[in-house]
Amino acid sequence: MASRKRSPHDFLFREELGHGSYSTVYKAIDKRNANKVYAIKVCSKAHIIQESKVKYVTIEKNTLNLLAKAKHPGIVKLYYTFHDQENLYFVLDFAAGGELLSLLHKYTKFNEVWARHFTVQLIDTLQYIHSQGVIHRDLKPENVLLDKEGRLMITDFGAAATFNSEQDSKGVSGSSSTSSFVGTAEYVSPELLLYNQCGFGSDVWALGCMIFQFIEGHPPFRGENELKTFEKIVALDYTWNSNNNSTTAVNTKSNPIIVNLVRRILTLDTKSRMSLKEIQLDVWFQNVDWNDKAEIWKGIWQ
Ligand code: ATP
Repeated sequence: MASRKRSPHDFLFREELGHGSYSTVYKAIDKRNANKVYAIKVCSKAHIIQESKVKYVTIEKNTLNLLAKAKHPGIVKLYYTFHDQENLYFVLDFAAGGELLSLLHKYTKFNEVWARHFTVQLIDTLQYIHSQGVIHRDLKPENVLLDKEGRLMITDFGAAATFNSEQDSKGVSGSSSTSSFVGTAEYVSPELLLYNQCGFGSDVWALGCMIFQFIEGHPPFRGENELKTFEKIVALDYTWNSNNNSTTAVNTKSNPIIVNLVRRILTLDTKSRMSLKEIQLDVWFQNVDWNDKAEIWKGIWQ
């Protein structure tokens, strides 16, 4: 028998977890099973229409539905959607560990063990996302959530673009539907800024920015305003150890292996940018068995 369509009355809404530009997210418990805890994203219909966000909400729902098929651990799972007169509801995995960005702020920067742990999980998840023909287009630490054991889950697919098949991850899409400015200034790729093009490699660029940020505590390109940030991106103007100065007791040098890896990811030319497969073969990951999913998906606090 087909299960009855769910409704807001099936859940006990608890505390607010946060809110975005057109939604508020609550912790919620399934009334039929108190062990099932979810995050429910509530989007006001009036607000969505008023702010012209219909397209983003539709993309987010369709992409999450598409990606939910394989139950990949690195993607926040969408369990149900329903609506009432005022709102749309997305019932999602509850990410008890909060945002990766908050963890980074808590510790200022990650040690290499943690940086590699999160990078490995990001690579495994991005490979799956790209294999489904999806480009996330807004990867950044705010859009990476954590479960209670410290496994990551990528969220916020409102800016995603979908293709029928995976293209060469070094390639770019010239399709006008994927080339409008989306994303966040600090993580936007140079091909989008320079040529209005965005492809699988644009997510790889954002990954490179995040690896840098894990080690340095801030993204590689950050100006006083968006324009200055864009200028730094297209000039490849970033510096390792920029926060270290002569008053620092220990002037720790960044690991040259990581510096070299990031250098080969943050390339202006998409053709010379490393693909995810090439990144996997890098010496920084020499002890990682990419086929051992149980090992890759261990929590950091286990
Ligand atoms: P915007 O839509 O403006 O880009 P956003 O993506 O942060 O912002 P939401 O997706 O509505 O907006 O999320 C709002 C906040 O709720 C997030 O910052 C996050 O802290 C929290 N949150 C979102 N999804 C979950 C989840 N699945 N589990 C736990 N907390 C979540």
